Amino acid sequence: ARRNPGEIEFQQAVNEFVETLMPYVLENRKYRDAQILERMTEPDRIITFRVTWEDDRGNIRANRAWRVQFNNSIGPYKGGLRFHSNVTLSVLKFLGFEQVFKNSLTGLPMGGAKGGANFNPKGKSDREVMRFCQAMMLELHRHIGEDTDVPAGDIGVGGREISYLFGQYIRLENRFAGILTGKGLTFGGSLVRTEATGYGCVYFCENMFNHIGDSLTGKICTVSGSGNVAIYTVEKANELGAKVITMSDSSGFVHDPAGIDAEKLAFIKDLKEVRRGRISEYAEHFKGVTFHANERPWSVPCDVAFPCATQNEINLDDAKVLIANGVKAVSEGANMPTELDGTHAFLKAKILYGPSKAANAGGVAVSGLELSQNALRLSWNHEEVDTKLKTIMRDIHAKCVMHGQNDDIVNYVQGSNIAGFIKVADAMLAYGVS
Ligand code: NDP
Repeated sequence: ARRNPGEIEFQQAVNEFVETLMPYVLENRKYRDAQILERMTEPDRIITFRVTWEDDRGNIRANRAWRVQFNNSIGPYKGGLRFHSNVTLSVLKFLGFEQVFKNSLTGLPMGGAKGGANFNPKGKSDREVMRFCQAMMLELHRHIGEDTDVPAGDIGVGGREISYLFGQYIRLENRFAGILTGKGLTFGGSLVRTEATGYGCVYFCENMFNHIGDSLTGKICTVSGSGNVAIYTVEKANELGAKVITMSDSSGFVHDPAGIDAEKLAFIKDLKEVRRGRISEYAEHFKGVTFHANERPWSVPCDVAFPCATQNEINLDDAKVLIANGVKAVSEGANMPTELDGTHAFLKAKILYGPSKAANAGGVAVSGLELSQNALRLSWNHEEVDTKLKTIMRDIHAKCVMHGQNDDIVNYVQGSNIAGFIKVADAMLAYGVS
């Protein structure tokens, strides 16, 4: 806290990490002597810049943008860009820090970074978003590259934004290269990248169930969010025989006891990805659905909760309600959706708790596969990528078990933190004091 005053989210992410890592580091002298935790919790560098653009009425607007290049010990920096009015340096530092260990867990050669801007895309026209993205790339282009730093999407940054950013990079640098992931399929994108975070989150949950001789089939699920991660979480949960009864956005949640099946999900995709409307429309469109303004879905009884919206969306009270209602598993699609005392409550209740570092690593894993395809100048088919994604999620689960098995239960927080840490720490030690 003294080193990073006021950076609440960053302190929270570091506290959770250090809490599980400290005993391990104290047991292993080589890490302790090298002050590895002190070094790992300081980003390699942070770039802060102004983005000036013109809105549709001719007003000049200025936003602040950042790229936090956290650690490139095991590969080029890699991590998404977030556009949201509540983006601060603290939020991007927490995301960049967690990205380092998540990327390590995937087994692919990727370092960790995160970036974004306090730009609010809500209510902006396509042209305004385009001008903002082009203005942002005007500075960002000199800090990224296929062997240096490869950004991707995150909240508020989807296919549309990546395309505008990529187009501007090509114009500025006069070269076509895999410097962003999540690109369109006709210009270097990978199949399954759009679906990867949500699918991966469900695969991870299925792995946790399988490990105790159970499965997702027939489970009642609550999902928060209705963006990229939420939509494909619902799609895969349905495919594996579960029933999803809630989705949400920043205005509230919808509860559909009959289940959000494939047909209803198609409505959500159109509503959110094409029309950019509000989730309350779902309740107006389908019978038997209720809309709960300004509430989160955690009071609805369920077997499995998939938080897929944003950080700190499950507090201790929410965690207690979920546990009291008999939740069996929580698999985190969003980054750090559970407050630290909520995490402690889940661990104490011994439910299957898949923290974001492990559970949502599928997105960046397929981004890694997109880079491999770009480097090889070829495209793998849907089945090839999906099979690789499944294998990666299974391997991550196995690493969590290896480092997190405590008597009768797997502590996935401990498992993912230690497994992610070892690879990065050993690389840093090998490079000497730096
Ligand atoms: P999107 O922008 O596609 O969707 C975000 C969803 O969450 C929207 O429904 C949005 O509602 C809701 N939301 C965002 N902020 C808030 C808030 N402050 N309060 C309540 N609801 C909110 O983003 P993604 O689906 O890509 O990202 C969701 C989460 O998953 C994030 O935590 C992200 O870091 C994480 N993640 C994403 C990956 C990816 O590949 N995209 C990879 C790994 C993690 P509204 O439309 O009203 O804003």
